Order: sequence, then C-alpha cells, then structure tokens
Amino acid sequence: MFSAEIIAIGSELLTPTKTDTNSLWLTGKLNEIGIEVKLKTVVGDDETRLEETIKDALRRSDIVIATGGLGPTEDDITRKVSARAVNRELVFREDVLREVAKRFEQIKREMPEINRRQAFVIEGAEVLPNPNGSAAGMSVETDGKFFIILPGPPRENKPMFENFILPKLRERAGEIFVKRRILRVAGMGESAVDELIAPIYLQYENPQTTILFNRSEIEINLTAQDKSEKQADELLEEVATKIAAALGSGVFAINGETMEEVVGNLLLQTGKTLSLAESCTGGLIAERLTEISGSSGYFIEGVVAYANQAKIRTLNVPAELIEKYGAVSKEVAEAMATGMRERSGTDYAVSITGIAGPNGGTAEKPVGLVFIGLSDGTETKSIKINLPGDRYLIRWRASQAALDFLRRTILKKQN
Ligand code: AMP
Ligand code: MG
Repeated sequence: MFSAEIIAIGSELLTPTKTDTNSLWLTGKLNEIGIEVKLKTVVGDDETRLEETIKDALRRSDIVIATGGLGPTEDDITRKVSARAVNRELVFREDVLREVAKRFEQIKREMPEINRRQAFVIEGAEVLPNPNGSAAGMSVETDGKFFIILPGPPRENKPMFENFILPKLRERAGEIFVKRRILRVAGMGESAVDELIAPIYLQYENPQTTILFNRSEIEINLTAQDKSEKQADELLEEVATKIAAALGSGVFAINGETMEEVVGNLLLQTGKTLSLAESCTGGLIAERLTEISGSSGYFIEGVVAYANQAKIRTLNVPAELIEKYGAVSKEVAEAMATGMRERSGTDYAVSITGIAGPNGGTAEKPVGLVFIGLSDGTETKSIKINLPGDRYLIRWRASQAALDFLRRTILKKQN
C-alpha cells in the first residue's frame, strides 16, 4: 500500500489563530481510496526548514502533498524551495502566464508585475490549472515518488486535487474501497471496553480497530479495506456485530449515531413523548435533542428550572424537600421529574440537578455530583453519579448520562 504524507506550508498555520484544515480534508480523500497518511508537517515560511521537510518527506513516503505558499509575494517560497529540494530548475512557462493573466481579466483587474512569478514552474512538472485563483499547482514525479504542490486556499486546492490528482492516485492505488464504521459506548471506561473487545479485534488485521475516549463516550472506529465496497461492508458488519454482542447494552450506536439520535429514534419507534426539567445542564439536553430535525415528534417541552424558586413554582417541587435534602438530591431530582411529567402530560419526563462547579461543592456534595430523575407515569426513579471534569465537561457528561438513562429505560421496557 502507498504511504502518503502532507506538508502544510504557511507561518500563519503555526499561530493559534489559523488552523491547517487542508491536511484534514486531504487525508479524508486519500483514505477513501485506500491511501494511508503516515505523517503530516506544518512548516512556516522558512526556506531552510521547508527544504529539509520536503527532502525528508520524499525520502520516506511514496506520495507527498504540499499546500500553500504559491502566491506571488516574497513570503511565498514553495515554488523556489520545492525546485531546490528535488534538484531541478524553475522554468518560465508562457502558457502558465497566459492563464494567470486570463484570471486577472476575469476579475477585471490589471495583473501586477509580481504575479509573473506564478508562471515559473518546476522543470518537468505537470501544471495543474486553477480556475479559482492565480496560483497553478504542480505535480512532479521524482525517483518513483509523487510530489504534488497545491495552492493554500481550500476553494482552490479542493477542485484541483479532485479533478487532477485523485483519479491518478486511484489508478496507482488500484481499486480499493475503504469503509469506516463507528460504534459508541456509554457508561463504561476505555479499559473495560478494551478488555472485552480486544480478544475480538486482535483477530482481525482488516478491519483495523482503534478505540478512543470522546468527552462522554468510548468510540470504537473500524476501518475496512477491500476490493469491493460490498466486501468491505461485510467485514465491518462481521466485526461490529461481534463487538456489539460483547459489550451488550453499553453500545448505543453501531453505525455512528449520536446519543440524541438514538434516543430520538427509540422514542419515535415506541411512540412515546418526552419532557425535560433541567437545572445544572441549563437546557443542554433540550438543545441536543432539538438539533435533530423531526424531534417535535417526540420531544414536547423542556424547562430550565435553575433556582430553587423555579423548581418550586414551575415544577411543583415541595419547598420542604429542598430545605431538607438540598436542591441537589435524589428527592428533588425525582420531584422535578414527577412535577414535569404531570405538568406536560408526556410519557417520560427526565430531570437533572447537580453541581457543575467550579464553585459550590462541599465534602458531602462535591463538584460533579449529579442526580438524574425519570418519571414514566407508573414510577419515578433516579440515579446518582459523580462526574469528573471542568464545568463544561460535567454539564456535557451529565446530559449524556441523562439521555443514556432514558435509553436504557426504554430498552428495558421493550424486553
Ligand atoms: P498561501 O497559499 O500561503 O498564499 O495561502 C493562501 C490562503 O490559504 C491563506 O488564507 C492561508 O491561510 C490559506 N491556507 C494555507 N494553507 C492552509 C491550510 N493548510 N489549511 C487551511 N488554510 C490554508
Ligand atoms: Mg502563505
């Protein structure tokens, strides 16, 4: 299999204000045709470092794709340094200049003299036309390696890559289909997940399996490659099924779905409705659910009852309960859920109350303590959890735990 690497060129990409997105997009495209990106480098507009980087890249990788630094100004050094790195001259190309000039005619501007620089290309390079800008790209074959140079702006390099480079690479890589699948697991740690599924995925080189922790869930990424799309899909299906069976109800998604999608689908399938009474999450659960189009089919309403008086007035939580147990308690969580369900008439009401921090924690009730209540008309129950993280993470994880609590409740009723 071919190995590829990417060089993102531009000093601005080394500052906190500008992110290199080109390499992400290119990696996605390369992966689709079975080419793995082994390394990427972000290098500033520095001749020495850029030359070293290009030479190193061409030594170790079959395909090297550089983006940026093809503009007409002094800091645009990619043309010159790339030529030096592959030991070739820059040659002036009249036809390329005509294209640059044409571009200026199109936008009805006079071509500045310095844009003549953009008509210099590496000797022997194939020139890649740029209908969206003045900088042409280049593709150079050197010692069996493929060196591709693209302009920096995404709107210029994307069509260039798709039209001129992708077909060529696909031909070289052969017909390989790469398919991905993501499984998501809630309520389990990374090590526990790995312990259960390593015996399965270690038997397979294809698909490749990676496990990562993502805010509030474990993500299992499967990547399969095969000569046909169908075969790749079958490989994924085989391993995904085994993994899901090993993890049981902890798996909430076997096809990349989000928790809110899964819960929404369950409500839809069972024809049930939901209301929410949120305190510490401040409407986050409602926000997540309503991001899904069609959620009005099951999500009826949500209340953000943040202060005690709101819990009392809006959700009918007895004031004595708050006085006796505190707003963050099993009793209040359950009263919030009951009050919300009675108020809205929904099949389910989920409530949440907790301490998101960083202030407000005590020895008895530390930051991260969260109670989730759930009322379904016949009973009201609750869970208590202790969540790690900063305020943002605690709130996010609390919202996830609440949705997961509802998910598990609906599933249990189904069985
Ligand atoms: P340049 O080709 O260096 O003149 O860059 C032209 C424009 O493309 C500038 O706005 C850059 O910030 C942007 N650009 C260059 N490289 C990247 C990259 N790797 N990801 C996203 N934008 C980029
Ligand atoms: Mg630049």
